[in-house]
Amino acid sequence: MAERAANIRLRDDFFLLIDGALTDNGERLEVINPADGQVFARCPKAGRTQLDAAIAAARRAQPAWSERSFAERAAVIAEYTQRVREHRDKLAELLTREQGKPLFESVAEIDRSAAQADALTGIELRPEVLVDNDRGRIELHYRPLGVVGIITPWNAPAALALLAMASALYTGNTVVIKPSPYTPLTTLKLGELAQGIFPPGAVNILAGGDELGAAMTESPGIDKISFTGSVATGKRVMANAAGTLKRVTLELGGNDPAIVLDDADPAKIAQRIFYACFVNTGQVCMAIKRIYAHTSVYERLCEALVIEAQRAKCGNGLDPDTTLGPLQNAMQFDKVVEIFEDTRRAGGRFLVGGEIPSGPGYFLPPTFVTDIAEDSRLVREEQFGPIVPILKYSDLDDAVRRANDTRYGLGGSVWTSDPERGREIAKRLEVGTAWVNQHRASSAHVPFGGAKESGLGRQYASLGLKGYMEPQVVSVSAM
Ligand code: NAD
Repeated sequence: MAERAANIRLRDDFFLLIDGALTDNGERLEVINPADGQVFARCPKAGRTQLDAAIAAARRAQPAWSERSFAERAAVIAEYTQRVREHRDKLAELLTREQGKPLFESVAEIDRSAAQADALTGIELRPEVLVDNDRGRIELHYRPLGVVGIITPWNAPAALALLAMASALYTGNTVVIKPSPYTPLTTLKLGELAQGIFPPGAVNILAGGDELGAAMTESPGIDKISFTGSVATGKRVMANAAGTLKRVTLELGGNDPAIVLDDADPAKIAQRIFYACFVNTGQVCMAIKRIYAHTSVYERLCEALVIEAQRAKCGNGLDPDTTLGPLQNAMQFDKVVEIFEDTRRAGGRFLVGGEIPSGPGYFLPPTFVTDIAEDSRLVREEQFGPIVPILKYSDLDDAVRRANDTRYGLGGSVWTSDPERGREIAKRLEVGTAWVNQHRASSAHVPFGGAKESGLGRQYASLGLKGYMEPQVVSVSAM
């Protein structure tokens, strides 16, 4: 297996993967390095013809792929993740160039998702016996859905493609994957690495614009959409999928609150809270996006977080000293700059950061703001950038009410020196994942997804894997 992996050399140019063949249709997407705002690569841009060919190939490949056992499919996926690991350094460098995150985070993204894919494909999905008595036996089985369309955003393109792909393939489906037009390159390389390991047509990868995603959601040849992206697009996906009653899993945005209790020790938790806010420069669905601090710890927490922000080093992700890269694209940069300006107009007090560099590159400093109204844009919206409000509370019920007063419901956390007390309060948060003394922890064995408008369905664990399958009751009468 290792020998086979070592024999593959990644090419310098980029291709779509359709029906097992690396393909170029002549159309081009330009890819910008967010650290300098310059186009640094071009790759093929798929259109309707390539989508139709990919869907047809996926449909042809699906019956034979689904006839293999879980163990057989897991073995093929393990061969693939091994090959991905062999090429980790090259993939990570490309990921940093197109996405902006520090190189050590790109390495971690590839390593972690390969490990998580392996863990996912070790989860057993057995039929359940619902009734077994003298009148008969009723079993609940799970059948593959068919072809899964996977649509990913630009903040963690490698992880989100790899994990959805592993889930769909393991459960007997074939896939058509479309990364964000801002970050197509690493995903196309994941396609190049898939060539020769999976049967032709089982994995198809198409770079393309938003219209290609819309075409996928409408196509009768796709049975399920696994979508990760914004709430606004998620709603469009669901509306478009209704035409063919496609299954959908929607992993959408968040506005995660962190509630810091009166018994928390700011010196102990500040670093963890800082990185839960600003890893990937705040462009993480389950980042902390609002902090509610009890009045008794508020001043000390602000001071400790300011020190963490001052220690951070913003810069090009390829520079080994960098801890925070740029925003990923000009659109997101402009959106976060607007939030900086709106926060200033609304009278927010900037504890640290707040200045907008003149460029080049889409850099913004880690910024904490206090004295900002609960109905400000910074508190109400998903900022998805390096600016986080620290809000004061004196009554815990009031803090929980404010934390829950949002249309989002992805994650939330409680910080305390008493984990048992934390657990009780965490249960009151209206979110898919409520953490205590941590935020963002995830694993292949733990279902992940959003409550309210943060999503629909779950990824990972047997609950997530079953989302890639259709439940089927087999009911046998004893006669
Ligand atoms: P986006 O919604 O703009 O785009 C996501 C993907 O959808 C892209 O590939 C895009 O081309 C495609 N797309 C756009 N319009 C489409 C349409 N009409 N039909 C089908 N596909 C379409 O999101 P983004 O700005 O790339 O990503 C940032 C968002 O993603 C944030 O809100 C973030 O919180 C969210 N996110 C969520 C999770 C999670 O697991 N919950 C993880 C990462 C990111």
